[in-house]
Parts: sequence; structure tokens; C-alpha cells
Amino acid sequence: MTKKVTKIGVLCSGGDSPGMNAAIRAVVRTGIYHGLEVYGVMRGYSGMVEDDIVKMESRSVANIIQRGGTILKTARCKEFYTPEGRQIAYNNLKKKGINGLVVLGGDGSFKGAQTFSNEFDIPCIGLPGTIDKDIAGTEFTIGFDTAVNTAVEAIDKIRDTADAHDRLFIIEVMGRDAGYIALHSGIATGAENILIPEKKTDIDRVIKSLQEKEKRKKLVNLIVVAEGEDGGADQLAKTIKEKVPGLETRVCILGHIQRGGSPTCMDRLIASRMGYHAVECLIEGRHNVFVGIVNNRINYIPLNEAVKKKQRISDEWMDIVRILST
Ligand code: ADP
Repeated sequence: MTKKVTKIGVLCSGGDSPGMNAAIRAVVRTGIYHGLEVYGVMRGYSGMVEDDIVKMESRSVANIIQRGGTILKTARCKEFYTPEGRQIAYNNLKKKGINGLVVLGGDGSFKGAQTFSNEFDIPCIGLPGTIDKDIAGTEFTIGFDTAVNTAVEAIDKIRDTADAHDRLFIIEVMGRDAGYIALHSGIATGAENILIPEKKTDIDRVIKSLQEKEKRKKLVNLIVVAEGEDGGADQLAKTIKEKVPGLETRVCILGHIQRGGSPTCMDRLIASRMGYHAVECLIEGRHNVFVGIVNNRINYIPLNEAVKKKQRISDEWMDIVRILST
């Protein structure tokens, strides 16, 4: 029999993503609406281990829906990997009477939440916060839309300068194991090539198409590369300089700007919706699931099924990229 939750904690863990503040706001205000006490845990699981836990009021989350980053900060916590660390974390929650937890983070943070709630009587609900959009069981993750729009804005600017100088630009976007940001931003900016970890790159084909474009005097080219792709942008630039020396090539690594900034309307909406449902879940007595959205419906997926999604890119997308960039 699940105990009724009365006091809940909310934390952000692992990599940050824009929209986390909107989700925190939703959790705090939905919790207070239902008469719960809500606590903010600072710096992910570290705040649980170090007892850095603050009571949140409705006003604590005023004026944050539009802010990037997270007011609770986020961190990676080594101690939480150990049973001793998790025991200390549990004691600290227990001291405050916290009997439900909402964890915003990626699949790693969900694994931590799952392990913790298997060991102790504290139900955990996950909210998928990652710019990589690579968690199976949800079509949306908090932060992806902002990150991809930041990339699009930056790539549009790069195209202007590429065009002015007739240059080839290789733009590296975030995504160590996931190519969603590269795929979506590349298609939306009319990139000539998109290289992602999920699809084996045929480097000879890339070179051949650049050589052919050079012959036709099509010198402005954008290639969008996910950081996880073999060697990233620098390696690709080296290969291209060797094989097509006539092309003036520049590299631009977008880096951490993709994590920051004011969340888009879409990210604020999904963060608000998911945050609201996380609290509803705890009240209904659900535990150890994360909140996803599929076909515009809320989906609850067991935390232990939170795995990195390997996307299958249909050849149709790759055909579209190739045909539209000629
Ligand atoms: P993300 O949530 O972005 O995937 P990580 O994989 O770095 O990020 O995980 C974030 C934190 O979650 C870790 O620093 C650790 O504190 C906790 N965590 C991850 N995996 C486990 C695990 N198997 N057991 C306990 N804690 C874990």
C-alpha cells in the first residue's frame, strides 16, 4: 500500500537544459495547490547528500518561467552511486519528512532515482530534461526545442558570412550519441550535408559531392556535424582540406550556447505540462515512472525502461537533404 505523499522534493540532475525552471515552477505550484509542502533540492543528488534542501513557496518560483538554466542548479554526484551516499541522502530527506521526489534530468538521473526508490520508501517521478531528445518513450524532452532553435539561429548567421566569402562551413552542434539537434537544425537551415552518429558517414560520398559542387562553382556549403560523429568538425575539415584543397573551409563549434537562453514557447509548455503531471502522479500513488508525451498524450514510462533512444533516420530525410541542397 503506497503511503500518501505530503511533502515532496524537486531537483535537477545531470546536464542542464532550457525549460528546467518552467518545470520547477510547475511542480512547486501544483504541489502547493494540492496542499503539499514542496522542497527544492540544490545541485541534484548532491543537495540530498549534503542536506542542502530549501522550502519553496509559490513566490520562490515567480519570474523564472522565461529563464534558462535552473534556479536549483544541477550537478553530477559521485556519492549517489554508492549505497552509503544514498543512505545519507535518504536520512536527510526523512529528517524533513519528504516522502516523494521529482527528478528532472536525463536517463542517468533516472537510473539514480530508480536505484534510490528501490532501496527506500520514497516514490520518484522523472521529468525528461535533456537537449538531446534521446530518451525512449517520449517524443519531447524539456530543452530540445530551445537548443535546436538556438542552433538554427546561429547557422543562419553563419550562412550569411559563408555566402559573402564563398566558403564551406562545417558547423558542429551538440549531441555526443544523438544526432537530433544536427538533423533538425541541418534540415531547417538547408545544410548540404548532415553527419550524425546514428548513420554511418560515407566520407567518400561527401567528398565527391563537394568536388562536384566545386566544379559547378557552388562554393557556399554548410555541413552540420553532431559532436559525437567520428572526430567531429575538426577531423572532417582536415579530410576535406586534403581532398578538396580548392575549397575555403572554416569550422564553427557552437558549444554551450545551445544549453542556455530563454526557453521557447514549446519548451515552456511541455515543462509546465510535464511538471503538473509529475505532481499528479505522486498524489495518485504512482511511483518510479517518468512523464513522457506521445501523440500529444501524457505517457508514464517505468524509470527502469529509461534508456537512450537510438533514432532510426529514415532514408527519406537523407534524400530530402540531398535533393534540396543541390
Ligand atoms: P544525465 O541525467 O544527464 O544522463 P548522468 O548520467 O551524469 O546525467 O547522471 C546524473 C547523476 O545521476 C549522476 O551524477 C549520479 O549522481 C546519478 N546516477 C546516474 N546513474 C546512477 C546509478 N546507476 N546509480 C546511482 N546514481 C546514479
